[in-house]
Amino acid sequence: MVPSAYKFQTPAASSSAAPRTISILGATGSIGTSTLDLLVRQPDRYKVEAVTAQRNAEALAKAAIALGARFAAIADPKAYDALKAALSGSEIVAAAGEAAVIEAAARPADIVVAAISGAAGLAPTMAAIERGTSVAIANKECLVCAGGLFMRRAAERDATILPVDSEHNALFQAMGAGGRGDIRRLILTASGGPFRTWSAEAVRNATPEQALRHPNWSMGAKVTIDSASLMNKGLELIEAHHLFQMPAKDIDVFVHPQSIVHGIVEFCDGSFIAQLGAPDMRIPISHCLAWPERMTEPARRLRLEEMASLTFEAPDLVRFPALRLAREALTVGGAAPTVLNAANEIAVAEFLSGRLGFAAIPSLVEATLNEAVRRGIVREPASVDEALTIDREARAIASELRSDAAAALN
Ligand code: NDP
Repeated sequence: MVPSAYKFQTPAASSSAAPRTISILGATGSIGTSTLDLLVRQPDRYKVEAVTAQRNAEALAKAAIALGARFAAIADPKAYDALKAALSGSEIVAAAGEAAVIEAAARPADIVVAAISGAAGLAPTMAAIERGTSVAIANKECLVCAGGLFMRRAAERDATILPVDSEHNALFQAMGAGGRGDIRRLILTASGGPFRTWSAEAVRNATPEQALRHPNWSMGAKVTIDSASLMNKGLELIEAHHLFQMPAKDIDVFVHPQSIVHGIVEFCDGSFIAQLGAPDMRIPISHCLAWPERMTEPARRLRLEEMASLTFEAPDLVRFPALRLAREALTVGGAAPTVLNAANEIAVAEFLSGRLGFAAIPSLVEATLNEAVRRGIVREPASVDEALTIDREARAIASELRSDAAAALN
């Protein structure tokens, strides 16, 4: 069954009078703490059901107490005692293990914020979808590794998917300006990262420290490296393809170094509708939490008078081949994007630990994709378990090939 794209409908329990119930998966991370910052300002508007983390028990307990949550789940069982101790004196129920994180996702809530990083986010996010809850999705891996599956189950379970990623949230907002059939093209903007103006030779020799210096956004290490290589935009291209049911050929990327215009929808009459805003994730997060209403002042406002210019340029696929690889993976289809993502995670981890050069990141991804196609493991995943199996197989291939890529390009 082809999912009916993304539904523009009010979350089930929404009314301006009743408070919305929110659960945050990945409450201690960058997206999680930005969400917390918004929710604590409006205790009458939002109630929190559950919060989760991997092993940072102290930060999780602090978040649970600040938000008045009912349930706090930590994935690492070894962190249970610390969580229990940190929650003592409160009525918050503590739980540990992967099953507890899934239970947190499946508890009754109007909106589940899916902000766990990596493949660990797949099963809990699917648990929220299976309940038919609205899901504010930040975790890229759900859509990149198994986008077809996630959108199909969301349509079948009547779960609304709200995009947190700033570019997709911008497109979501701009798409409302016209009919679905009148959209000609979706445009994702990219900052271009710290190496936008660097020579090919300089990019090749870039260090982790240089790659971690993002010009506009403050984010976790993995996504910052992906921004520098443009792989982040490649992953976003795959996300947009699934979220909005648009063929890859109708999704373009433009480098926009100011990071003010986050996404543009081109309509058939030549109108380009864009969303602009300060580069602050609290704006798209607030849009998902309050949708279809809006939150007042979630972050610093944009000052148009301070903007000298807004520029757009085509990405350079020679210096930054990752974007080309993502497009190719979408063309191959099936689990090729799952393989791309897994190989990239291995490559980025190796780069950050100093064992692989920057230019070897896309080389390792490309070699892994070719090998996965050769071994015939790019079948479309039919379940989260199958997507995770393909993810593991791709990681194993990337690890095997790593030494070759390192030797060739370091
Ligand atoms: P962070 O690394 O800052 O936070 C990750 C969160 O997930 C933490 O709460 C962490 O817990 C938890 N977590 C990590 N591994 C596991 C696991 N195995 N099981 C359960 N919980 C786990 O990530 P971000 O907030 O930056 O990103 C979250 C997701 O959102 C990613 O997929 C990212 O690509 C996407 N995204 C992020 C953006 C950003 O601006 N940061 C922008 C757009 C999308 P603990 O603290 O205990 O480790």
